[in-house]
Amino acid sequence: MKSNAAAIFADPTFAMACEQFRLIADYLQIDENQRHRLLLPKRALALTLPVRRDDGSIGVFPGYRVQHHLAMGPTKGGTRFHPSVTLGEIAALAMWMSWKCALTGLPYGGAKGGVTVDPRSLSARELETLSRRYMQELIPFVGPDTDVLGPDMGTNEQVMAWFMDTYSVHTGYAVPEIVTGKPVSIGGTSGRREATGRGVVYLIERAMNLLKMKPDQCNAVVQGFGNVGSVTALGLASKTGAKVIGISDHTVALHNAAGVDVHAAEAYVRTHGQLAGFTGGDVVSPQEFLELPCDVLVPAAVEGVITGENAGRLRCRILAEAANGPTTPEADQILFQRWEEIFVIPDILCNAGGVVVSYFEWVQGQQQFFWNEMEVTDKLFRILEQAFAAVIKRARDAKIPHRFAAMAIGVERVLAAKQARGLFP
Ligand code: NAD
Repeated sequence: MKSNAAAIFADPTFAMACEQFRLIADYLQIDENQRHRLLLPKRALALTLPVRRDDGSIGVFPGYRVQHHLAMGPTKGGTRFHPSVTLGEIAALAMWMSWKCALTGLPYGGAKGGVTVDPRSLSARELETLSRRYMQELIPFVGPDTDVLGPDMGTNEQVMAWFMDTYSVHTGYAVPEIVTGKPVSIGGTSGRREATGRGVVYLIERAMNLLKMKPDQCNAVVQGFGNVGSVTALGLASKTGAKVIGISDHTVALHNAAGVDVHAAEAYVRTHGQLAGFTGGDVVSPQEFLELPCDVLVPAAVEGVITGENAGRLRCRILAEAANGPTTPEADQILFQRWEEIFVIPDILCNAGGVVVSYFEWVQGQQQFFWNEMEVTDKLFRILEQAFAAVIKRARDAKIPHRFAAMAIGVERVLAAKQARGLFP
């Protein structure tokens, strides 16, 4: 590929997303002239965000928003508040969103945003100030028909409500469609908070069904106990009857062969803000945790946790990638060799429930016509079913790994849209 533009985003996570793309572009024999145009984000905004702290000092936080491509409609993507956020990581996440939206047939390009901050280190007032300042700085670049924001790690319904309010105050009237994942009281949709985890559980059940595994005789290990991880663990335990034998967050990893009481764990985290101190399991190291023997392993936290180093030691039957980018390309090579042992549900399929229901929320907001939770969930499962079936068929027909199949479908659709529109001017 002939371009130095990628240097803007230099970062290990971006390099990982580029390598995944290169493999797919080679596989699809995409013309060299098309590759950079497909790969590199259309727009990227870097911000510095001053916030008056409670002690009177002024902290300045870096923030970003990346819009990957605009060929099929507005861009769409979450907002991450985390201390390790970089421009390159946000660009990688925006790229993955593009392939995910195309795979699930949504009329969006991918986007992502974030602020390099530990939200737990801020008071409630400081978090509100930072959230509003971030949205204020984005106003010239986003909009319901341009770029629609949503939640991701470290942000939640309340942050989305502040985004929506800040944008609406600027506009002079309520614009709920500027964000998804907002509270139902201001135009959010029923079922959005649970959507990602619910989708993960649905796809795990589909995989179990395909592999002729009995859900109520299976056990699962779930890394990350935030929005996605906790809803997934609760769904696995209460809906499928599977036993959750491991849960973890950034403070501790817990193992209980008899099954963790995930409802008690969820109540504990709601009160204490973290899992550390919860006594429902034995503490294990984060490394041991991922290598516990189990039927289903669900990474639902950060990127790059399954690596060339530990992929050979995973002892799960199904790897359900609820997080974005949990598996490095080196690990992928090992998992491909182990394809008969480990069934991978790749991230752009596995966690797509979140953006699918965000799309429903955006549609409902534009029409001012709201659906009940049953309609939302039913429509969600239909879309996931189509995407799952398409990925499995493509993988089987072409004898390629599931991630390859999922990405090939997504990349092909974006390429087709760009080719149909042509290159302006
Ligand atoms: P969250 O902030 O609600 O929760 C993150 C969880 O991960 C917390 O329990 C945190 O303690 C834990 N964690 C952080 N670092 C960890 C580490 N090193 N080891 C173990 N646990 C760690 O975030 P979320 O919304 O649940 O997002 C989790 C993942 O799912 C992210 O990769 C995100 O991009 C992806 N995702 C989220 C959504 C969504 O709708 N929220 C949609 C699609 C994908």
